[in-house]
Amino acid sequence: MTADDAEFRAEVRAWLTEQLTGEFADVAGLGGEGREDEALDRRREWERRLGAGGWIGLGWPVEHGGRGASLAQQVIFHEEYARANGPGRLLHMSEQLVGPTILAFGSAEQKRRFLPGITAGETLWCQGYSEPGAGSDLAGVRTRAVREGDEYVLTGQKVWTSLAHVADWCFVLARTDPASARHTGLSYLLVPLDQPGIEVRPIKQITGTSEFNEVFFDGARTPVANRVGAEGDGWRVAMGTLGFERGVATLGQQIGFRRELDHVVALARRNGAFDEPELRDRLVRAWIGLRVLRYTAVSTLRSAGSSVSGLEASLSKLQWATWRRDLGELAVDVLGEDALTVGESYGLSPEQTLFLFSRADTIYGGSNEVQRNIVAERLLGLPRG
Ligand SMILES: Cc1cc2nc3c(=O)[nH]c(=O)nc-3n(C[C@H](O)[C@H](O)[C@H](O)COP(=O)(O)OP(=O)(O)OC[C@H]3O[C@@H](n4cnc5c(N)ncnc54)[C@H](O)[C@@H]3O)c2cc1C
Repeated sequence: MTADDAEFRAEVRAWLTEQLTGEFADVAGLGGEGREDEALDRRREWERRLGAGGWIGLGWPVEHGGRGASLAQQVIFHEEYARANGPGRLLHMSEQLVGPTILAFGSAEQKRRFLPGITAGETLWCQGYSEPGAGSDLAGVRTRAVREGDEYVLTGQKVWTSLAHVADWCFVLARTDPASARHTGLSYLLVPLDQPGIEVRPIKQITGTSEFNEVFFDGARTPVANRVGAEGDGWRVAMGTLGFERGVATLGQQIGFRRELDHVVALARRNGAFDEPELRDRLVRAWIGLRVLRYTAVSTLRSAGSSVSGLEASLSKLQWATWRRDLGELAVDVLGEDALTVGESYGLSPEQTLFLFSRADTIYGGSNEVQRNIVAERLLGLPRG
């Protein structure tokens, strides 16, 4: 680490400590996967505080509200954030998905209009890709956007749209050419959610919370000026967005995993599960697995730059999602028979929530099976099924 990086780490740590033991102490550790409903209003205030501190869009160019921070500094920020037990980020799709997409594919006017709301921690975006007939097979998108003068009029349905019930805007993959099929004739549209013609219905999850939603478009509108990229070129832009997923946040994510593993180990020591050879063996394997994840992430980031894409992203997703799903299973096995009952009003223990939510890790952002297909075809050169 260079002297500059050490200084940067000290600056980040001091700022986060001051905020998270001071004015924002009440949100430390809240939110995140399976618990997105916690302290929503305060966490939006927290996002604004992060924005005011200049901590959103760190790696973005200075002229677009970023700091032009190096890859190492971005990693440092995410590590320190996780160490300080920062709350689950509500604006993660804004900062890590649509923001980089607008930077890479958007017009100068779109950058001027949309990026400041993200770096200020104001605008909460959600991702409108999946539909009832288009998940792994995203090219099956049927939501239509028909041009009327200077606007597109949208009709159709999205599903599993995380945070749509609290979001301001949605980036939507829609079919602008009704005669088109598969990857062609799609466009990438930025759509304001607060308008007639959009209904958001939360979906109740097995964790008892509602973090994702069905989103119905029935005559919703967005200006043609809110299309990112050319009409019909939405597939390329949408794939660009997926390439930005995770990236520099991976190492911070692993510090969160470490905290979860430490929790399970502490529980095992308390309740005697640690003395059972089979469980102790799995705990040790989980620890080793996490080290492997870290080394893989560091070497991937070194070779790939700030956005991890393609094969490496598939390998990394497959690896961490499987690790965390296994940790969820281990957590309830360590908990023992207490894992079989729930508290009053469906009160779940942290181990139960971890077990239930970590099942989703192997589905969203591309399921394990789909990642394996990619690895089989592109890395191993096996024939397409
Ligand atoms: C917690 C969570 C949050 C999400 N948030 C969002 C969001 O914000 N925005 C959004 O657009 N989407 C979101 N999704 C949706 C997610 O992207 C889809 O669930 C995912 O792409 C899988 O699609 P599907 O659910 O339609 O399953 P399907 O594609 O129908 O797959 C069903 C099963 O078949 C398997 N399968 C499918 N195709 C193949 C194949 N070719 N070979 C082998 N096996 C195959 C899959 O692995 C899976 O096991 C979220 C999902 C979850 C779980």
